[in-house]
Amino acid sequence: TKHFPVRARGRAALSRGPKVVHAVDDVSLSLRRGRVTALVGESGSGKSTVARLLAQLYPRTGGDIRIGGVSTAVKGGGRHFKAYARRVQMIFQDPFASLNPVHTVRHHLTRALKIHGRYTGEESLAELLGRVQLTPASLYLEKYPHELSGGQRQRVSIARALAAAPEALLADEPVSMLDVSIRLGVLNLLRDLKERLDLAILYITHDIASARYFADETLVMYAGRMVEGGDSETVTQRPAHPYTHLLVHSAPDPERVRGGPAPYDDEDTGEPPSLIDPPSGCRFHPRCPKAMDVCRTRVPERTLVGDAPDHWVACWLFEDEGRGEGQSADAETD
Ligand code: SF4
Ligand code: MG
Repeated sequence: TKHFPVRARGRAALSRGPKVVHAVDDVSLSLRRGRVTALVGESGSGKSTVARLLAQLYPRTGGDIRIGGVSTAVKGGGRHFKAYARRVQMIFQDPFASLNPVHTVRHHLTRALKIHGRYTGEESLAELLGRVQLTPASLYLEKYPHELSGGQRQRVSIARALAAAPEALLADEPVSMLDVSIRLGVLNLLRDLKERLDLAILYITHDIASARYFADETLVMYAGRMVEGGDSETVTQRPAHPYTHLLVHSAPDPERVRGGPAPYDDEDTGEPPSLIDPPSGCRFHPRCPKAMDVCRTRVPERTLVGDAPDHWVACWLFEDEGRGEGQSADAETD
């Protein structure tokens, strides 16, 4: 959970007291080595905040992060953070902003390798660039970020993250700022790295079609809460939650990752709500065509749904599906 304080001004501050943005509420997920997990949602749904919490760039308001089953809650301090950062690395949306324009590729990678005690000279640089398919290394090492294409810059950012030999990569919209024609190449590279390095990858995106293409598991966020999850094929082809339906049906083309227009617009589906005063009950209820009375007052809990294993949804429409057969039978006889 992450709540950000909001500075209120004037009379509002006096009458209502301190306010918070409910950026992330009770979100729970597991990353596993050798698996890509997509976290899908509109902008403002809290997905980037989840990545930053997992990277421990933000302190959390509540909850815990466990790595290899060990809580990160008890220990603090710089040394502990460095050890965590070695295992969990982040890739940002804008490779231009995350690389320092006054330093060469050589400088960026050498520094990252040295921080993690893995610099062993020229061949360690060539190995990193080889991992991201920038070969021969001599073509790239002396270049500055502005001398590289967007795709090459993102590959250098990925190489820098790999310098730590991490177990997990947190990739926040890693291709959304790239030219559509090269997105697929970068996603394929990440998938290849997942296999070869047995990485756990969190892939954050607003583009559910790319999640189907690229991720093993897909989780859907709406207004700071997680609303559905399961294997990508099931969630994207047989979505249960009304919001996931909306996402799937407003994504015009499953091949869009290869090119095409923006994923969807909100014209006839309404806007995501303010997270300062989020809607009560199910946060999707003001936009949901199937909303019932209970939706306005009570937060739906996760329940297993359908035939696919581990497909879950948080929606009152599926209240009964998650119960065991025995239980429903009992309820009927009672
Ligand atoms: Fe719609 Fe209710 Fe399900 Fe929320 S809980 S998605 S409002 S039906
Ligand atoms: Mg974001």
